[in-house]
Amino acid sequence: MALPGTSSGLHIVHIAAEMAPVAKVGGLADVISGLGKALQKKGHLVEIILPKYDCMQHNQINNLKVLDVVVQSYFEGNMFANKIWTGTVEGLPVYFIEPQHPGKFFWRAQYYGEHDDFKRFSYFSRVALELLYQSRKKVDIIHCHDWQTAFVAPLYWDVYANLGFNSARICFTCHNFEYQGTAPAQDLAYCGLDVEHLDRPDRMRDNSHGRINVVKGAIVYSNIVTTVSPTYAQEVRSEGGRGLQDTLKVHSKKFVGILNGIDTDTWNPSTDMFLKVQYSANDLYGKSANKAALRKQLKLSSTHASQPLVGCITRLVPQKGVHLIRHAIYKTAELGGQFVLLGSSPVPHIQREFEGIADQFQNNNNIKLLLKYDDALSHMIFAASDMFIVPSMFEPCGLTQMIAMRYGSVPVVRKTGGLNDSVFDLDDETIPVELRNGFTFLKADEKGFDSALERAFNYYHRKPEVWKQLVQKDMKIDFSWDTSASQYEDIYQRAAARARAGA
Ligand code: ADP
Repeated sequence: MALPGTSSGLHIVHIAAEMAPVAKVGGLADVISGLGKALQKKGHLVEIILPKYDCMQHNQINNLKVLDVVVQSYFEGNMFANKIWTGTVEGLPVYFIEPQHPGKFFWRAQYYGEHDDFKRFSYFSRVALELLYQSRKKVDIIHCHDWQTAFVAPLYWDVYANLGFNSARICFTCHNFEYQGTAPAQDLAYCGLDVEHLDRPDRMRDNSHGRINVVKGAIVYSNIVTTVSPTYAQEVRSEGGRGLQDTLKVHSKKFVGILNGIDTDTWNPSTDMFLKVQYSANDLYGKSANKAALRKQLKLSSTHASQPLVGCITRLVPQKGVHLIRHAIYKTAELGGQFVLLGSSPVPHIQREFEGIADQFQNNNNIKLLLKYDDALSHMIFAASDMFIVPSMFEPCGLTQMIAMRYGSVPVVRKTGGLNDSVFDLDDETIPVELRNGFTFLKADEKGFDSALERAFNYYHRKPEVWKQLVQKDMKIDFSWDTSASQYEDIYQRAAARARAGA
């Protein structure tokens, strides 16, 4: 273990748009706190910089206070003041940036989906670097995430390094290549980037149209580029890269896929306060008690204790295989199971479609659709369900299949991206028996999905002993951040050593 302040203890700063549980939209939030905590445990000094959103969960921040400094930062030809707040989230020190800009960038009652997202997050990226520069911190690694903070990489090397702030190395993680942050080239100038210098095919110009692309910029300008699973890293080198495959090929030496972990403190059925009864692999009574409690809470039938409960917790977007999720509802009913969906959609027609299905099943005592975001309920569904479906079209990593296993809910997933790196089919004889932990299918159609769900139901009903062993085995798999954080630690150390050697 490295100690902070020693030669091997690094100073790592994550600049991100989300962090669990204060500001969470999806998996990115879990990664920031999970990876941050794991690196801190390994003896590194880890700090996080976030926007100060009006809608964040303020009650999840300890010692929130405003600092006695104002950071002036450049934007669109002017300097703007920013209040800097500090606080502790999950034991990690966090800086919250509150712009004093008339655009009220983070007072929108939501995290994303505003007409000026490009502006808001380029502003944030600039202030985050300005804060580090002005505080004269000796940072070893600046780790930015997704397009919202991808601006950090070109800003660091093209603006701040010229000011003498150049000891750090930049790591960029793309959590999903579907979102790349494109805009007309001149918009890059808002945050002080040089459009003429960057609007070139080998720098930030998008590979297929005349706009600029910030994820491309981060790939070109970062010292380390990662994505969130080895299989997805492979997939994005071809079609999965959504136009960035050639850029990734050019920069392949610095690009690696590291599987996300899960935060095993937050997701621990033996201590989880959201559950009716805590439980563990060696004492599964609590699991059935939670199933009974959820059935009661959601007014689902309790007549047959052994009727399998299928869970699904997801953002309802095309990536997640919404057509297969819809199909799974009817298929589960046909197979005599119960189905609970917890999900909401930023896409109005998908939200409406699922509201229609929810209405259709309103009085059904085997199917329940809850079209909202609800953290507490998500814990109960992981605990109560026997099976958990993730039929994604593509899935960079996916966390819910790992959380499900930790709670003894057997995953039924499509073999893609991180699902392919974490779920191994019980019937696949090419895979060592000890690794087999769920059910998978390859083709993204109803037939493919049915074959996996039917096999899961068969095992559940016909081989209860095998099923119980599977549940216990899944609960014991180590999905903690420990292994993955070691991989990040390793690439950080190598980049920092190269930086020291260069200096
Ligand atoms: P993505 O980041 O693409 O949304 P992940 O599987 O990586 O998918 O992470 C999703 C995270 O968000 C998980 O922690 C999951 O439990 C949570 N989540 C998704 N939808 C909901 C919801 N409606 N209510 C509560 N938690 C949700």
